Amino acid sequence: MLPWVVRRTRLPLLSLRCVGCPSESATTGEGRFRVNANGKLLDVWLLVRCVSCDRTIKLTVHERAPVRSFDPAELHGYGVNDPGLVASRLLDPLFARRNRFTLDWTGAWRLDTPSPWLDEPWPVRVEVVFEDPVPVRPERLIARGLGLSRNEVLRRVKCDVPPRRTTNTGFTFTVMATDPGSQPR
Ligand SMILES: [Zn+2]
Repeated sequence: MLPWVVRRTRLPLLSLRCVGCPSESATTGEGRFRVNANGKLLDVWLLVRCVSCDRTIKLTVHERAPVRSFDPAELHGYGVNDPGLVASRLLDPLFARRNRFTLDWTGAWRLDTPSPWLDEPWPVRVEVVFEDPVPVRPERLIARGLGLSRNEVLRRVKCDVPPRRTTNTGFTFTVMATDPGSQPR
């Protein structure tokens, strides 16, 4: 089985309304947290910026959470703006829902496919692995990866998930050697 990998090339933008201007797009930039201690309780925010007016928008990561409930490594990560922690918080669907934003993946990911598969026996099985939860339509991703039209994909490819339903988790598909549905022209 051949592996295809979907991975991000940078952090996605956030589709989020700015209160200072009509823009609906924000960026994490380098990625910065703010931690505020109030007695034994901590507030943690991820700071993002409007791409248009640069206004800072605070997104709640933790609200009045007991200090002792934090894993020390996580707490350290907030303090040093750990890039891995920034990414994992940003890509957490619960965090997005709580702060009412969606991710804009346009131009922020790529599909890595192995070099030509001339030696592979037909039919060819491909496994698509998501290193990052980029939402894609299987049909479009396969067309792009194989350099086929979407009609050809529908004829030659058997996908184990609904090909038109957006997904961000792994799936497999099979490509047939010939085009059994083709008619003589
Ligand atoms: Zn703005």
